[in-house]
Amino acid sequence: MKITDIETSTHRIDLDPPFHASWDTRPRRNFTATIIRVHTDEEITGIASGDEMLGFERFKDLFIGHDPRDIERHAKIIDNLSFHYSRYWPLDLALWDLIGKVADQPVWRLLGASSGKVALYGSSGTLRDPGAMAGIAQRFRGEGFKGMKIRFHRGDWCDDIKALEATRKAVGDGLELMVDCNQGWRMVWDIEEPWKLKDALAVARELEELGVYWMEEPLWRGDWRGLKALRNATDMRIAVGEMNRELYEFTHMIEERCVDILQPDAALTGGITRLRRIAGQCREAGLLFTPHTWTNGVGLIANLHLSAACCNAPFVEFPYDPPEWTPARRDFMMVEPRAAKDGMIDLGNSPGLGIVFDEERLANTRIG
Ligand SMILES: [Mg+2]
Repeated sequence: MKITDIETSTHRIDLDPPFHASWDTRPRRNFTATIIRVHTDEEITGIASGDEMLGFERFKDLFIGHDPRDIERHAKIIDNLSFHYSRYWPLDLALWDLIGKVADQPVWRLLGASSGKVALYGSSGTLRDPGAMAGIAQRFRGEGFKGMKIRFHRGDWCDDIKALEATRKAVGDGLELMVDCNQGWRMVWDIEEPWKLKDALAVARELEELGVYWMEEPLWRGDWRGLKALRNATDMRIAVGEMNRELYEFTHMIEERCVDILQPDAALTGGITRLRRIAGQCREAGLLFTPHTWTNGVGLIANLHLSAACCNAPFVEFPYDPPEWTPARRDFMMVEPRAAKDGMIDLGNSPGLGIVFDEERLANTRIG
């Protein structure tokens, strides 16, 4: 079996009303997704999406003519490309989809999971006033989620605490609450300084009082000493890693016990091939592994297959904040948006990633 071609295409939908993501200083008025298809000489095609594939066209000959199942070989090449150029990890996801289709098995099964059912937490993305945050939390609890993540980025973190207090009051102990401080990285146009250790520690003490399950990205992503000092100074779990680029960064943070939880995203770093190793390292070191999933619906599903086998945390991220961020928007490229049921997703038994593209929608939204 040989790869004959790798095709990428770019698609965009308008967002009206816009999505005000807490980590972005600009409102999002559209949403773009790059689709990747790996064709073979046996009429089986692997599909995926997730990150952009900028400039990939000039490198596809590195894969054409090779067996798509040589996944470790391909991951080495993608890793090299990621170092020199861009992040092409959606290719790894498409190769896993293909391998699953060849084996006629879902990816979760190939990774050794005993079930395709994954528990989720509702991951909100918009900053709302305290009353509205409380309302969303009650909604999530009513829909069966066991946890919810809220964002801190209102300018003054004391205002963030007020929103968290209202949320806790509304749901009591009925919902685990996580807080994402979004200090690990910035959008390219955003030059705001990240918090420093003493800022993060002051916030952490407030979060401890409110029984927060984890504090996410409290410091810049490379401040390993700060993270370790913070971890040692608080009883609360510290979570990082959604945009770290190099795999050795995770290994280092695991070996040095800098944090409690790692959250790499298979669509952004390492693919399924490399992250299953990172997940194993977390397990051996007594840390938790639960991936970030905010790319698009395909990236989410790929991370859930990995999680079915490798997540050792109570739940995995489900990007969800209606009406601004809905399964219909997130999954626009798919025939069926994936809603959670009782706080779970069942990945089912379809071979590969089990994704079916809405080809008509893709044709109508294609921009490149
Ligand atoms: Mg995050």
